[in-house]
Parts: sequence; structure tokens; C-alpha cells
Amino acid sequence: MSEECKKSLNFIEVIVEKDLAEGKNAGKIQTRFPPEPNGYLHIGHAKAICMDFGIAQKYGGVCNLRFDDTNPSKEEVEYVDSIKEDIQWLGYKWENIYYASDYFPQLWAFAVQLIKAGKAYIDEQSSEEIARQKGTPTQAGIHSPYRDRPVAENLRLFEQMNTGEIPEGARVLRAKIDMANPNMHFRDPVIYRVIHHPHHRTGTAWKAYPMYDFAHGQSDYFEGVTHSICTLEFEVHRPLYDWFIEQLKAFRPEDAGYRPQQFEFNRLNLTYTMMSKRKLLQLVQEELVCGWDDPRMPTITGLRRRGYTPEAIRKFIDKIGYTKFEATIDVALLEHAIREDLNVKAKRVSAVIDPVRLILVNYPRETVEMMEAVNNPEDESMGSHEIAFTRELFIEREDFMEDAPKKFFRMTPGQEVRLKNAYIVKCTGVKKDEEGKIEEIYAEYDPETKSGMPESNRKVKGTLHWVSAEYSLPAEVRLYDRLFSVENPSEEKDTDFREHLNPGSLIIKTDARVEKELENAKPLDSFQFQRLGYFNVDPDSTAGKLVFNRTVSLKDSKKA
Ligand code: ATP
Ligand code: MG
Repeated sequence: MSEECKKSLNFIEVIVEKDLAEGKNAGKIQTRFPPEPNGYLHIGHAKAICMDFGIAQKYGGVCNLRFDDTNPSKEEVEYVDSIKEDIQWLGYKWENIYYASDYFPQLWAFAVQLIKAGKAYIDEQSSEEIARQKGTPTQAGIHSPYRDRPVAENLRLFEQMNTGEIPEGARVLRAKIDMANPNMHFRDPVIYRVIHHPHHRTGTAWKAYPMYDFAHGQSDYFEGVTHSICTLEFEVHRPLYDWFIEQLKAFRPEDAGYRPQQFEFNRLNLTYTMMSKRKLLQLVQEELVCGWDDPRMPTITGLRRRGYTPEAIRKFIDKIGYTKFEATIDVALLEHAIREDLNVKAKRVSAVIDPVRLILVNYPRETVEMMEAVNNPEDESMGSHEIAFTRELFIEREDFMEDAPKKFFRMTPGQEVRLKNAYIVKCTGVKKDEEGKIEEIYAEYDPETKSGMPESNRKVKGTLHWVSAEYSLPAEVRLYDRLFSVENPSEEKDTDFREHLNPGSLIIKTDARVEKELENAKPLDSFQFQRLGYFNVDPDSTAGKLVFNRTVSLKDSKKA
């Protein structure tokens, strides 16, 4: 590979190439994506997915999907199913599906081996007491009074942890390592605890469950993972990961040449976004959003419903890259990615979100002209469609102003504007209701100015979108904005993230009108509404009323 190409490798790819060159693990590359099925995947997980599956794809290796299902009280089948769907939608395929729960027997056997080797013991103190004895990074911890129990007693008490007779929290199994180690994770970590909640796969077969640190590395080992890639918060766990692998290998001399290794990259944080499954679950449970797939959620299912494409998400992940430094990415970068993708893909159509009636007083009553509308100026091959033009139209209420300032180039009495793909018109008057609200706008059209005719080159400063009053369809349009009004909702000091919810994050427009061309639009189809932004069809749509989500505006309106 040339130096030029080498430079564009991320640091994990550099490691993998070095390992391949050195013939580590007999030249095998195996990764895994290890979600805990305790919630829906979010855009942060997409970053891990692109890495785990991407490495395997690039180097002819294997990536498996492994559910890290060691905490039955928080895990559900619904989450397992959604995780599979989201990975596939992002465009990745796993080789196998594994479950950490499949290894419960092996993990139990390993724990028994540790007990027999004098390297694990049963502690009966409360978790608070155990925490107190841990010490601090600069001060050694103190030994548990149960640390030196005889092996036989440990074995008997461990057995009991799995029978259901021991209440949760009353007893744990701890690895006996080093209460003075500067790495706190080595201070006799808890490796098994009691949970009575049934498991979504193993039911009530187990009552004792392994902790993350006692399951993850071992699962990697049982499966033959070579590169166990995760996020930076696990860096401090790595020595313990290696320690358990070392112990495990001692019981399996036949695997001498093989060893999984953990590598960490920076997790994805986004401005105005909360990225923890636990907190996202709170938003769902407290009905602060309309479910995991609410288009304001940073979940994959929410982004999909919002109109994001897998291509845009992958491109965004690729752009931000992988490093060893924690940072927060501007959410505008994600919005830019979907805008760029839809710009080349989305068909241009007309919709009026906040309609007011425009009557062309000199246009014949019965005439319907079919105007040509180009589907996508970025892609000629997408062709064009026809849009009906009639005497009565709808335009956007905010595109009219009665007493307009000089720089207002839209519709105001006496000023010419072009109706997109149609004629130049000039407002002649308005009709108002008792409260002064404009009910109808009157205008004259100039028949010589039809788009495409010689006169059509006459310069006017404003072009407005419109739909025919008669030949348009009613629609609901949901305008989304950022869910939070502060850049870092989860880490604002002394406040609760709920205080930072943006009250304007969803505005529903129920009287919108869309051109007839959208009659057969299907859920999740994306369009550009001329001048307004990118929108997609929401699954809530019915035969009588289409519902649209604003995916993103045409431009970044928040740019300073
Ligand atoms: P959360 O903290 O949001 O609850 P998690 O880390 O508990 O997420 P897991 O299901 O354990 O979620 O994560 C599966 C994989 O996804 C892990 O390898 C984890 O490192 C990775 N991951 C989770 N969140 C992010 C993120 N924000 N950016 C990159 N990778 C992430
Ligand atoms: Mg986790």
C-alpha cells in the first residue's frame, strides 16, 4: 500500500494492518458488535457498527453480532429485534448471532475454577460496605472479612447463589486480586451477583449472573474474536480484561497461540443531543417524546422515520473519523450529511404548509393548465412531472405582506413575483375577516410570462411556490427542531435534562396542501418541498391525509 493510502487509515486500521503483517492470531481478523439489548440503537452505536463491521469487511474478516445480555432486569426481546433491524438497515451483515447468555455455563465453570484456584471468594457484605472498603486511587482498600474463606465453603455458597434462596444483593462472588492496586478495577471486583428477574432467553434457569467485566472478554475469547473494539470508557477496564483472559488461558493450554485484544476509540457525542440509552429510555417512558422512533430521537429508528438515509449516516461517521480524544461533534454536521444526500436523490415537489388563497382575477375559471416541473435539477435523468395550474391557488401565508419593507421581494400589492414553473403575477388587493386576518389575496397574471415563453425572461426578484386549490391534497406537516435547547443537555451543571427540552421541537401544521403528484407517495419516501426543505412521508399517513416529517431545512438556519 502506498504512503498516501496509509495516511488515510484510521488508527485501528493501522493496528490491524500491523497485526496482519506480523501474522498475529494466524492472520485471522474477527470483530464483534456487542450491544446490550436494553434499548434501541442510537447514532453513537452507528459509529461502533461502522468500525466493527467495517474492519471485518475491509480485511476479509468476520464480524459477529453479540448480544451482551447479562442483566435480565433491563433487557427485552423487543430490543433484540430492533437492534437486528437497525444494523441491517445501516447496510451491514453479521456472520453469526451470539448471545453472552449462551456462555452462562462456561462462565460458571470458569468461576468455579477460579474459586478452586483460590482466586475468587463469596462476599456477604452490602454493596455500600464493599464500596467503602475499596479505598481511593491514592489510598489502598481494605480486605473483606470474607476474603480468606475456605474453598469448599466458597463453592457451597456460590452454588446457593443460583438456587433462588439468596435475596438480591445479599451475596456476591468477587475475584481475589489486589486491594492495593492503583487500578481500582483490580480491587477484588465483583464478578457474579444475584438477580431474580427472569432472563429473556434463559428464563429462570439462572439466578446468578456474571458482571460485564467477567463476561465480555471471556465471550470474545470463546468466540475467537481477535480485535475487540470499544469506546474509551473501557480503557481502564482493559488490564482486567487481560487479567481474566490470562486466567482463562491457564485452564486452556491448547489455545496457546490465540489471544483477543481490546482497542478503544472516542465515542460519538453530538451537540443538542443526549446519547445514553438509559436517558433515552426515560424520555420514552415519561412520554416526553412519542416513542423510540420519534423523529426527534437520535436513535437509528428515529432517524429513519425522520428521513435520514443509511448512506448519509455512514458518510457522516466516515467524515468525523476515529481518534483517541473525546470531543463533541456539531449536530449541524449530521444535518449537512442528509442534506447533501437528499439533494441528489429527492424529487422536487410543491407543498404549502401554511396556506392562504390566491385568486388570479383575470385567469379563466374553468381552465386547468399542466405546467412542467423538473424533478431534480441536480439529475436530469430523474425527468419531470406536471403540476396543475388554476385560477385559485394556495401560497404560503408568510410569502405575503401588505405593508412590506423595500427588501421584501415576495408578494405585496403592486409588486410582480413569479409563481414557480408558471406565470408572473401582481397583487391587486386582499380580503380580510373581521379581525383583520387575510382571507384571500387577489392578483392578475400576465399571460405572456409563462415559464419557457420569450417574455418569461422578464426579471422579477421573487419566485414563490404554490399549489392549485382544487388539484392539491390536504396534508399534515410535522416541523421538527432540536429536542434540546442547550448544547450539552446531559451535562449542564446542577440541572435536569428535562429542563432543557426545546418547547418548539415539534410544530404540527394540520392545514397544509401538497400537489397531486404526491397522491401515491409511500411511507418513508423523501421529497424536497420547493423552498421549504426535505420532507418524508410518515407511517402515520392515511388514505385521506398524508403526513410529512421535515427531515431537515434547505439551509442551516442556525449558522451564525
Ligand atoms: P449507552 O451508554 O448509550 O447506554 P452503551 O455503551 O451502554 O450505550 P452498548 O449496548 O453497551 O451501549 O454498546 C454497544 C457498543 O456500542 C459498545 O461497543 C459501545 O462502546 C458502542 N457505543 C455505545 N455508545 C457509543 C457512542 N456514543 N459512540 C460510539 N460507540 C458507542
Ligand atoms: Mg453498555
